[in-house]
Amino acid sequence: MAEKKELTVSDLPGVGPSTAEKLAAAGIDTLLAVAVSSIGVLTEEAGVSDSVARKMIQAARDMLDMGFETGDVILEKRQKVNKIKTGSQSFDEIMGGGFETGAISELFGEFGSGKTQVAHQLAVNVQKPEEEGGLNGKVIYIDTENTFRPERIIQMATGAGLDPNVCLKNIKIARAYNSDHQMLLAEKAEDLLKEGTYKLLIVDSLTAHFRAEFIGRGTLSERQQKLNKHMHTLLKVADMYNCCVIVTNQVMAKPNVMFGDPTQAIGGHIVGHSSTFRIYLRKGKKGSRVGKLVDSPNLPENECMFFVNESGLNDKEL
Ligand code: ADP
Ligand code: MG
Repeated sequence: MAEKKELTVSDLPGVGPSTAEKLAAAGIDTLLAVAVSSIGVLTEEAGVSDSVARKMIQAARDMLDMGFETGDVILEKRQKVNKIKTGSQSFDEIMGGGFETGAISELFGEFGSGKTQVAHQLAVNVQKPEEEGGLNGKVIYIDTENTFRPERIIQMATGAGLDPNVCLKNIKIARAYNSDHQMLLAEKAEDLLKEGTYKLLIVDSLTAHFRAEFIGRGTLSERQQKLNKHMHTLLKVADMYNCCVIVTNQVMAKPNVMFGDPTQAIGGHIVGHSSTFRIYLRKGKKGSRVGKLVDSPNLPENECMFFVNESGLNDKEL
């Protein structure tokens, strides 16, 4: 997929200077960004008609020689996938070595199950050198519930042998005040990701605002549509920038259901289908945490057990 240098968004059919400007303002400033965009997004952002949007996407794909890729190219892409270790060997094992770049991983579970703890730990661990299970990377943290705690980062950084001050400086945090703001922040994240130094994007919580704002059946499909668009943005940045995306999703306890699918997550199948990895977290015996990997494309369904200590995630109780 060699992007020809001389071609830009302005070379697409139907793209004059003002359309190009609108697209750029929406962060769609490369052929690849157009190629992986949707008709709905282009009509909305650039004010072009459906048929022009369709032609633009098709032309961008043609120029980029997208479409079918041979197996060796996919293999090459897979080899670029990096993994962030969690601090717990047991957790890393069920993830096939750690949390992958180029994918969305969804942490879901009840309130207090440890979703935010895992997110904080990965925000620290991604900063470690590669030989220690990190990616030498910086972090973008979209905080929707005001649960980001710098004090906790300091504890975990100290536990990981990193300089806590440097660690905090490498995390860019944005509070999202509502779902629209959250979606905008995810789009803005691209500006940072273009620098190439950010390797992890966290959205904690992915679904809280959507849940609060869209109550009642009449608005459910609108919620799903917006959530779908949001996930699309996240999937795009994961893919384009080989970035690890982690989202959290609170689920309700279902005490009357003993068996079956513990995935009554907000957003239901839309979140589920866009996430490459889904990890169900719950409290285990003796203060432990249990993580269960469910419906992942290439890893078996499996459970791990870990602990959350003062210094962070661990295989042992302190
Ligand atoms: P969720 O985001 O799933 O609602 P959290 O990740 O906030 O849940 O988990 C909160 C739990 O994490 C606390 O109940 C506590 O058990 C554990 N925890 C938080 N901070 C610490 C700490 N400094 N040391 C040990 N455990 C902690
Ligand atoms: Mg939380």
